[in-house]
Amino acid sequence: MKNAFVSLALLCGLLFLGTALAEESRVAIDGDFAGGNIKVDSIEGDVVNLRPDLRDTRGDWFYFAFRVRHAQGRTLQFVFDHDNRVGARGPAVSLDGGKSWKFLSDKPGFNSRQFRYEFGPDDKDVRFATSFVYTQADWDRFLSKRPRLKTSVLCKSRKGRDVELLRLGNAEARFGCVLTARHHCCEMMANFVIEGILEEVLSGSGDGAWLAENVSLFVVPFVDKDGVEEGDQGKNRRPHDHNRDYHQAIYPEIRAIKQQVPEAMQAKDYIFLDLHCPWLRGGRYNEALYSPGPESPKMIAALKRFSDLLEARQKGAIIPYKESNNLPFGQGWNTTSNYNPAPGAQPQMASKTWAATQENCLWAGTFEVPYANAEGAVVDDVSCRELGRNMAKCFRQFLRQPGRPQPGMPEEADFSAVQDPPARK
Ligand SMILES: [Zn+2]
Repeated sequence: MKNAFVSLALLCGLLFLGTALAEESRVAIDGDFAGGNIKVDSIEGDVVNLRPDLRDTRGDWFYFAFRVRHAQGRTLQFVFDHDNRVGARGPAVSLDGGKSWKFLSDKPGFNSRQFRYEFGPDDKDVRFATSFVYTQADWDRFLSKRPRLKTSVLCKSRKGRDVELLRLGNAEARFGCVLTARHHCCEMMANFVIEGILEEVLSGSGDGAWLAENVSLFVVPFVDKDGVEEGDQGKNRRPHDHNRDYHQAIYPEIRAIKQQVPEAMQAKDYIFLDLHCPWLRGGRYNEALYSPGPESPKMIAALKRFSDLLEARQKGAIIPYKESNNLPFGQGWNTTSNYNPAPGAQPQMASKTWAATQENCLWAGTFEVPYANAEGAVVDDVSCRELGRNMAKCFRQFLRQPGRPQPGMPEEADFSAVQDPPARK
């Protein structure tokens, strides 16, 4: 009797251990982290069928970010619901919980629907995403290395989050610069460009020092803060997205920008630059850096001037750029119908269109920074920061207009000849 009892106990123990081990060895896939987004349809053997979670998106979009656990030593095939889900260099992969990312492929032209991943023996937690996920944690890390920078709060989001506002430079300066990103929350590469712009301002270089002295910066890194943290698509959000809200202003962030930008930029000549990412891949305009052109002659001229400066600056930089990359208003998707989708519906207005109505705004524009590939060059944290630094240098050149006395600059100075001192090693 005693022996039978011991045998039963042993059997129960083995069963329990077996179940626990099976549980442990079962591949777990989820998007339960900041910026996470995935729907897993099935896991059959080594094949995972999945798709992006579209939530409140009108139509289709492609953003995903998920983590895989308990897959050490296995090779899994990830298959999306259809083509044009995976970017030009494959998914971005993070092995450190989302702190750093690398594309799966060194080359563009990656399969747009599926990828295979060999999990090493220590790959306990691997994240995959459309590109380099950037959330508040990344912004906080950037700030923590630069204790001089202190963010304030633009407003509370609908879900009660603080929407960050960074003020930098000289509040009394005669020039201003408004930088925004994530009107479409999935468009994360924009934030690395903003990091580069801020790095240049703080660098102590000739351009950086001039900007810090003569420009007041107003930076909103996450316009759709809730969407960034919750991993939404954001683009084409119902009833309309944040960058179609400048007429109706149903979102607190847009109401705050419309109120606070004119106050902060009062009596300043300023640049308003809103950074975006285009569609996922392919075609002339998704794998190249470009600016969708404005409608007004004043802003067409301003964009041309800024673009010429940027073209010169990007020569020799990682991401190629030419003024002729830009998409003029009236061509491709960049038409009036893009802002008035339904006949008889309330008109919609984008941020740059609103900013262009502000009398002292010298240039209101957007740039589209691809998710992974720009004419064969890699778009990543490094190349985007380099682009940001060059954009900052262009701000300085741009703000010097002929016939205006420039603070700290001789009237006739040739800006193109101003060089930074060689970088200290
Ligand atoms: Zn966008």
